[in-house]
Amino acid sequence: MEMIMQKHSVVPLTCLAALVVVTASASVLAQSQHDWSAAPHWTYAGATGPDHWGAMDPRFTACGKGKDQSPIDLESRDAKSGKNGAFHIAYEKTDVALVNNGHTIQANVKDPNDTVTLDGDTYHLAQFHFHTPSEHTTDGQRYKLEAHFVNEDSNKRALVVGVLVREGKPNPGLAPVFSQLPASEESASNQPISVDLASVLPKDHRAFVYTGSLTTPPCTEGVHWVVLEQPIEMSREQIDSFARIFHANNRPLQKANGREIDDESE
Ligand SMILES: [Zn+2]
Repeated sequence: MEMIMQKHSVVPLTCLAALVVVTASASVLAQSQHDWSAAPHWTYAGATGPDHWGAMDPRFTACGKGKDQSPIDLESRDAKSGKNGAFHIAYEKTDVALVNNGHTIQANVKDPNDTVTLDGDTYHLAQFHFHTPSEHTTDGQRYKLEAHFVNEDSNKRALVVGVLVREGKPNPGLAPVFSQLPASEESASNQPISVDLASVLPKDHRAFVYTGSLTTPPCTEGVHWVVLEQPIEMSREQIDSFARIFHANNRPLQKANGREIDDESE
């Protein structure tokens, strides 16, 4: 998932012109704000790729040293049978604005009506974005694409709903987004796009639920993950329209380190 602010107090001397006050609270909604202009440019390959994120900046330490990192392989035989009614996803028709942030294409949600509840806490959908190929694997299987629906509660804790995508029929719910993906950071339009999110999710909301991290720097931990087990379908053309812009923007699998994975449903 994408940027959440992390506690830190380091402002590189080279960036005095961009001197900013960085809040101590984590905020999903702070992505793409100027606070991160001083952060190093990370990528998915080579000298600035995932193996090096942790050493690139003191704020990225969790990427290298964290013990509860994401993504991970989710094995159904190892998952603990959890309670039914553990969570509830209430997504509906919503207006979004698309941005290309250089790492993915992100749909910023304009109204706060889409929510997920988990353990009695309510999280509001802030944005969703995509990775290709998938970041999580289920029973060792990697998918063509993974959508991350990033939600935040009143204490700025994040809950991400992961939706796996396999190649198949065109996805009508995501067509308004995938027919106009901004190919560059400059080409995004401010035109709101209406997306029926309820129709995008799979019918079966059984999910692997575990605690992990952002899958992009600063790799902040304490993120609730709800990875739906039933994949959705998108056509090859839809998948390719994203893959032409981002060839591979998936972080490699991380160690589970004995973390509990629950198999739960609504
Ligand atoms: Zn993501």
